[in-house]
Amino acid sequence: MGVREGFEELYGAAPEGVWAAPGRVNLIGEYTDFNEGFVMPLALPHTAVAAVSRRSDGVLRLHSADIDGPVVELRVDELTPRSDTGWAAYPAGVVWALREAGHAVGGGADIHLASTVPTGAGLSSSAALEVVTALALDELYGLGLTRPELARLAQRAENDFVGVPCGVMDQTASACCTEGHALHLDCRDLSIRQVPFDLASQGLELLVVDTRVKHALGDGAYAERRAGCEEGARLLGVSHLRDVAYEDLDTALARLSDERVRRYVRHVVSDDHRVDRVISLLDAGDVRAIGPVLTDGHASLRDDLRISCPELDLAVSAANSAGALGARMTGGGFGGSAVVLVESTDVDSVTKAVTEAFAAAGFTAPRVFPAVPSAGARRIG
Ligand code: ADP
Ligand code: MG
Repeated sequence: MGVREGFEELYGAAPEGVWAAPGRVNLIGEYTDFNEGFVMPLALPHTAVAAVSRRSDGVLRLHSADIDGPVVELRVDELTPRSDTGWAAYPAGVVWALREAGHAVGGGADIHLASTVPTGAGLSSSAALEVVTALALDELYGLGLTRPELARLAQRAENDFVGVPCGVMDQTASACCTEGHALHLDCRDLSIRQVPFDLASQGLELLVVDTRVKHALGDGAYAERRAGCEEGARLLGVSHLRDVAYEDLDTALARLSDERVRRYVRHVVSDDHRVDRVISLLDAGDVRAIGPVLTDGHASLRDDLRISCPELDLAVSAANSAGALGARMTGGGFGGSAVVLVESTDVDSVTKAVTEAFAAAGFTAPRVFPAVPSAGARRIG
């Protein structure tokens, strides 16, 4: 059953509209966002789709076709951060963030949604849920918010209502990406640029390898890396590591006595530089040449930031050994997904090589699918 039909069956009337917002994968620039550096995500073809109608009595009703549970019913004026509403905290958090920012959504809404974004694979199923809710309410209530404003509100929902300390990349990607492009996002001033990333016309594909694992080790690692980066910035006398120029990296490293902080600084400054390299190459139309930059990025995440894991390392090494142009882990690490740049003619052989390597290592079979650079959030019905 479609989302529109599901809405009608649940709420007994047709929705006022239907919206979609994609998940994302980050091409390059990892753990750079909170250092006010650069990232370069692209939207996936996988989307969260929401059928939505306004209400006038201040009630918010939420339902997901993907969750085996009843309609969650809340009151807009009683929404409280970190109140445990499970999955419903993501869309409810957006309503809360809109309300807190003074936007007139007090009438409430009926929402029914379904998503094809894999959850927990590092592909931002949560941001897709938030952004689709934000866009639907913006259009229905005539709020007139810009895409970057919607992304900021969605981030606020995840940070302050759900309680997850994520940067603004995921929501910005879901709200602002366009088909056939990667999104260059400056995490300092939040300026964005669409960078042409037309793989098909070049005979290329970007594969996502979802390792299907998430290691518990990842839980405290994000906060630890973040604190280490802040320490590095403090020791170097800059507000954020973004302010250390790549040309000055060796000089900066020589001033740091803590080996761990040195590794984190080297990763962040060199990954910002890799974003620059990838942009120059894409602007010059030399898409194949970004492959080795991706693989360098993986080595940096593995050896300097130390957030990889055996499954991600194997995905990258098996893909590259089988003829991929380059590969790296993407997202928070300790599991989740890797991206692999391949010639279209090599998709099958590289996929087979990765799958066989996982089987030989006794790992859970990975899921491999193409990351076609797709459109950001939009109304679809
Ligand atoms: P990621 O964003 O990387 O997929 P998160 O842990 O940030 O992983 O978000 C996953 C959570 O988002 C799920 O546990 C669930 O609460 C919520 N979610 C994602 N997709 C759906 C869906 N289709 N229906 C209901 N909740 C969803
Ligand atoms: Mg998420």
